[in-house]
Amino acid sequence: MGFSTMAGEDVRPDRLENLAAGLRFAARAIGQRYTPLLAQVVVTRRCNLACGYCNEYDDFSPPVPLKDLLARVDHLADLKTASITFTGGEPLLNPDLDKAVRHARKRGMIVTTITNGFRLTKEWIDRLNVAGLQGMQISIDNLEPDDISMKSLKSVEGKLELLSKHALFKVNVNSVLGVTGERTQDVITVAETAAKYGLQHSVGVLHDGSGLLKPLSPAQMQAYERVTQISPSMVHSLNYWLFQKNLMNGQGNDWKCRAGARYLYVTEDGRVHWCSQQRGYPNKALLDYTVEDIKREYHTEKGCAPTCTLSCVHQMSMFDRRRQAIADPTQAAKAGVGEGAPAPVS
Ligand code: SF4
Ligand code: SF4
Repeated sequence: MGFSTMAGEDVRPDRLENLAAGLRFAARAIGQRYTPLLAQVVVTRRCNLACGYCNEYDDFSPPVPLKDLLARVDHLADLKTASITFTGGEPLLNPDLDKAVRHARKRGMIVTTITNGFRLTKEWIDRLNVAGLQGMQISIDNLEPDDISMKSLKSVEGKLELLSKHALFKVNVNSVLGVTGERTQDVITVAETAAKYGLQHSVGVLHDGSGLLKPLSPAQMQAYERVTQISPSMVHSLNYWLFQKNLMNGQGNDWKCRAGARYLYVTEDGRVHWCSQQRGYPNKALLDYTVEDIKREYHTEKGCAPTCTLSCVHQMSMFDRRRQAIADPTQAAKAGVGEGAPAPVS
């Protein structure tokens, strides 16, 4: 059974719809090559916080208008995009977030969002339930806010409780090891708190600001192990084997990043970039983005790949690991490699 609004309209997708969206994802991941598996769509660049390490926000941008968001969702659906994550800045600063979620569900995509959680209310959770949101990630870096990260457990523990009571979607709490060495133990407390509320937990790793690889300290390694015991999950195991193991030991990864193809990052002005950390390539309007663009970016090597910590891009690229890489030099040339793009890996 679906879910009825006051107007009697059945809007919340039922389990069969969720299953169908999951199967569509699997079919496109395994059976197709030039279809996006995940698009991260910025719904506003503005954020209500100002974390010291973040380069993904400002304090003034307006929300992306709903009609633009819906047009972007429609074009992504036409490209056969399997899933979409609405992000920011802070996505809850866009009052139409739930309408965009609902539209993307109607177009058959798996739909999630990433938030700092500060603006969550029961009303927002109810609206996102009704819209059919399937997953939410909340990032928590420390126990108390400090100069580097304002995303503290103290600030949002009440929101975790609210989510555990009312959310019909999956909630994942994500922490990052390596933000500051002094706060390593905080990650364990965050994982324990997430478990207390029945929420999933995952952990990311950072390399230093210059992009140089720095192995995790013994204390950080111990914290990582402890967290994976508190919250054993597929996500932990996957990230560990895909890329974290090498990075934690100060080694780069040899992999093909499929950003611009399997993964799209759509900025607030509606343009496609490789990812939040590599804005500028291919920098093309989403509404003009075609399968030819996807093919070109699929085969474009990214010089930043060895030290990349973006777990969602690693995950979306993993399905093609076993495919034979057909390097087409004309495609790479068109992509602008050697004209300001990061140097090829190999
Ligand atoms: S909450 Fe997220 S988007 Fe906002 S400043 Fe912090 S890291 Fe950046
Ligand atoms: S390797 Fe990582 S940083 Fe580089 S383009 Fe791909 S996702 Fe972005």
